[in-house]
Amino acid sequence: MNRLNQIAIIGGGIAGLAAAHYAKVAGAHVTLFEAQDRLGGKIKTIYRDGFTLETGPDGYMARKPTLTTLITDLGLEDQLVRSKTGTSYIYVRQQLRQMPEGSVMGIPTKFWPMVKTDLFTWRGKFRAGLDLVIPRVYKGEDISLNRFFRTRLGSEVVDTMIEPLLSGIYNGTLDDMSIESTFPQFITIEQKTRSLILGMKALTPPVQAGVKPSETGKFLSIDQGLGALVEGLRPSIDRLVLNTYVKSVRPHEITLADGTVEQFDGIILATSPNMLGPLLGLPEAERLSSLKRTSSLTVLAAFDESEVEALDGTGYVIAKSEGNALTACSWMHKKWPHMAPQGKALIRMYIGSEYVSPLLHEDDDTIASFALRELRRIQKVGTPLFTKVERHVQTMPQYEVGHKQDVRAFEEALSKWDGVEACGAILHGVGLPDCVDSAKQAVNNLNLKQGVMV
Ligand SMILES: Cc1cc2nc3c(=O)[nH]c(=O)nc-3n(C[C@H](O)[C@H](O)[C@H](O)COP(=O)(O)OP(=O)(O)OC[C@H]3O[C@@H](n4cnc5c(N)ncnc54)[C@H](O)[C@@H]3O)c2cc1C
Repeated sequence: MNRLNQIAIIGGGIAGLAAAHYAKVAGAHVTLFEAQDRLGGKIKTIYRDGFTLETGPDGYMARKPTLTTLITDLGLEDQLVRSKTGTSYIYVRQQLRQMPEGSVMGIPTKFWPMVKTDLFTWRGKFRAGLDLVIPRVYKGEDISLNRFFRTRLGSEVVDTMIEPLLSGIYNGTLDDMSIESTFPQFITIEQKTRSLILGMKALTPPVQAGVKPSETGKFLSIDQGLGALVEGLRPSIDRLVLNTYVKSVRPHEITLADGTVEQFDGIILATSPNMLGPLLGLPEAERLSSLKRTSSLTVLAAFDESEVEALDGTGYVIAKSEGNALTACSWMHKKWPHMAPQGKALIRMYIGSEYVSPLLHEDDDTIASFALRELRRIQKVGTPLFTKVERHVQTMPQYEVGHKQDVRAFEEALSKWDGVEACGAILHGVGLPDCVDSAKQAVNNLNLKQGVMV
């Protein structure tokens, strides 16, 4: 087998770590530069008093297979756990209300539950039903999710159900979000069946290899926490350079913040979205780096289970109309039983992006008290055993209308740079499996000239 030789990876989040793994498999000697004093990027698992605290991602979509394959390659498949499910709720009109049975990603697919639900007025229900006759909205040119869904299903279903469910994934608003880059599956459905309701109804989730079909949760994680994935990938790195900020990249050459220059056969950028432009100096990279990014604050609160109002389910989303600073609340001990000891509860609160800026400079206790106050407007909870606040400042890229074209332009420009590739959340999806896919692709692109595929 041909050997990839000296490879530098910039960034030690999931994309950089996966790139290290695939480069190692292809025979490379891997050097990884990371600006912080730790690996993992947005993945951060903390263990405290028997709790497993995920302050960033807590799992991933099971239907995207690359990450599961990677976890299996690392020998961690025995640690894979599937999320638990239960009743799904939306907090709207000052009450937790059940989502109509058969709703998939906010799209109603069953007639009677939709007729009976108290979530919508009759007018709203009738308007959503017009989806069955409305012509196709997507005409081959990117549009916002907002325009797509409002035209198909009407404002009431969008504001009450779709917007709280979908905007949380990107920590953005449907107004900004490109349908081509965020949820292209809705375009496929519309092209195929025209009606979203009929199209979603026809969909049955594929069964994941190695997972019992009776388990119905859509997410997978690792019972030691996602930090175990980071540790599993660490041995792929031959030379780990922490606390080291890379200042610029040119073909086969990187310059560190202290001015040191190092040469490599191949370089893979797996940095935060805002760094592509400054590192490469390409206008197409600057454009991607300058796109909107949002900040988020998550607050984890641990309780004795008796201190938390018992509800069947794994959490809820909150409609914007409620004027609550929280956008969603997950009962982590129900979704992922491995995260809390017996008899304890772990609640994770997500603070909406418009409330984040004024809070960012407050201390952790102030932020946690604020989140708990907002939580108590929705459900009864007592005094937490402890809380943990995490700030993600300007890190979530927003895939705005036209994002795909911007990425294509960037990749075309970068393809002219010999031996330099990029991967990570800024490009083809923010989910962990998307980042792993892009890392694999980046290593394959580097390898192509040498005829080595991973
Ligand atoms: C709160 C939150 C919850 C989420 N939940 C989920 C979830 O449940 N499931 C899911 O699939 N996805 C989730 N996501 C999205 C997912 O976590 C991220 O998209 C993904 O982890 C990004 O990985 P990455 O490697 O591209 O970037 P990052 O994890 O941001 O890593 C980039 C790394 O590059 C380093 N770096 C940057 N610039 C330089 C430089 N110049 N020199 C050296 N190092 C540099 C940074 O320090 C960082 O460590 C969530 C995101 C957030 C913020």
